Amino acid sequence: MPANPGKTETVLRGVSASQGIAHGPVLRHIQGDIEVPSHTVEPTERAREVERFEQALLVTRRQLQELMTQVQNVSADEARIFDAHLLVIEDPALIGETIREFEAGGLNIAACFNRVAQRYIKAFANIDDEYLRERAGDIRDVTQRVLQNLLGRQIRTLGEQAGGRVVVANDITPSAAAGLERSGILGFATDAGSKTSHAVIVARSLKVPAVVGLGDFTGRVRDGDSVLVDGYEGVVILNPEAATLRRYGAIRARHEGFEERLREANERPSVTLDGVPMTLRANIEKAADAGAVREYRADGVGLFRSEFLYLGGPGLPTEEEQFAAYSHVARELAPAPVVIRTLDLGGDKPIAGGAHLFPREENPFLGARAIRFCLEHVDIFKTQLRAILRASAAGNVHVMYPMISGADELARANRCLDECKRELRAAGIPFDEALKVGSMIEVPSAAMTADILAETCDFFSIGTNDLIQYTLAIDRLNNRVAHLYEPAHPAVLRLLKRVITEAHARKLPVCVCGEMGGDPLYVPLLFGLGVDEISMAPSLIPAARFTVQAMRLADARALAGRALDMTSPKEIHALCEAFHRERTGCARGGA
Ligand code: PEP
Ligand code: MG
Repeated sequence: MPANPGKTETVLRGVSASQGIAHGPVLRHIQGDIEVPSHTVEPTERAREVERFEQALLVTRRQLQELMTQVQNVSADEARIFDAHLLVIEDPALIGETIREFEAGGLNIAACFNRVAQRYIKAFANIDDEYLRERAGDIRDVTQRVLQNLLGRQIRTLGEQAGGRVVVANDITPSAAAGLERSGILGFATDAGSKTSHAVIVARSLKVPAVVGLGDFTGRVRDGDSVLVDGYEGVVILNPEAATLRRYGAIRARHEGFEERLREANERPSVTLDGVPMTLRANIEKAADAGAVREYRADGVGLFRSEFLYLGGPGLPTEEEQFAAYSHVARELAPAPVVIRTLDLGGDKPIAGGAHLFPREENPFLGARAIRFCLEHVDIFKTQLRAILRASAAGNVHVMYPMISGADELARANRCLDECKRELRAAGIPFDEALKVGSMIEVPSAAMTADILAETCDFFSIGTNDLIQYTLAIDRLNNRVAHLYEPAHPAVLRLLKRVITEAHARKLPVCVCGEMGGDPLYVPLLFGLGVDEISMAPSLIPAARFTVQAMRLADARALAGRALDMTSPKEIHALCEAFHRERTGCARGGA
């Protein structure tokens, strides 16, 4: 029976942005550019016109600062989006070009500003870099706000309209989203959106279910429609039928019940049924994540992806800025270890405004990425190493290098570290003389020479994301080959086993810090293979802990033994799935 008489149920697939299930009436939020009138301005009015422009910029600045304070109450970090917006209205090039165009052409200043802004937006939208492309949305958002102020249009926030509804939009800009936390919005479904889009950031910080990247969803919905957002599976159902709603009611109850069980499990130690404690650490990206590490009761940080400090803003962070971030985390979490990975820039992570550092490469994932980039730019590398060393005086800091492909690279990186130590000693600056040094194992050549690498470092951390990509020759960002990306491939398991055996023979501990470790299906396999620690996004820790509590290590070892004898990735995956289901009584994700 249709829940919406006369309307047909339609299922659409997008990208899951924020977990949960929401159902409600649609609020269609179409963000068209506002109409900007164009007319000539009398010479006597020209000075007044420039004043109005300056006034509009001032008002916009005040509004942005207010929005920033509002969002700060939800998440200090997301509020930094508005720093970028403030930079746009302070950009001398944008303002200067507008004034020049106004003085040369005689048209009203709103028309001139609009033309200049559109040129900027187009230039950013065409950049061959996802992060910078997304910034076109920032410029559009803020310049539209300036125009609204200049033309005296009312700004009605989405938050004022969204209560009790699911917002369907082409995208959600940060300023449109401001105020939503108090609005009682049910969920989001957007046409645009990717991992770095603001809609995703905002949805997660508001903890409302969201699906993005739905193509032309706004073109399909009408006022009066209802929509169900399944943020677990990345599915949206337009005008769901009564039977679908009943099914989703049961799914939601199962998820909620499972989440409650996970919350309880997370309060208990991660000890197997046969009494062996298992170490679960957290992967973090910024200083503020230290709170999540504690909230999810992780055993310290197994991977601090330090490059995110570099991706946030224009230019490179100074030694002091890095020292502040690293020492904050070290102090907050001491005595638990904090493993800081040195810069992994390049590949899919060039820095904003860093074109001179990252010339275009045909195959960036096989190019001057990570440790290769650092050894090419020793000054940048040493600035970071000094900051890490200094932070080691504040807690239990370890350092590790990404993308090591052989002993020579490891030796060169260690020489840079030794130089920094000497410099600090000479300057009388304290650091931990016993700082542990790790090598990431994420290139097959490193896995094959683990015995050699083990001679000159203190621990290994296996980056399965890259190890799988490079072993199976599967670009981790290419959707066309995503189905071939198989963590349970025998080649991957053999490499893992080899690394663990060589490391243990030399008394080195081994961590796994790639996404494979955060998948509860693979937790028994990895511990069964002999991995000492697994590090994952903090929010994934409860499910991993729950799995550990439900298994015996002896059984996990038997599972790993069987998996190593098998030949088909699909069968190994099925074996892990069955092991997990039999012990936890549920599939991955709980439902
Ligand atoms: C990995 O490759 O598994 C890893 C943890 O590093 P990143 O995902 O940052 O490349
Ligand atoms: Mg990696």
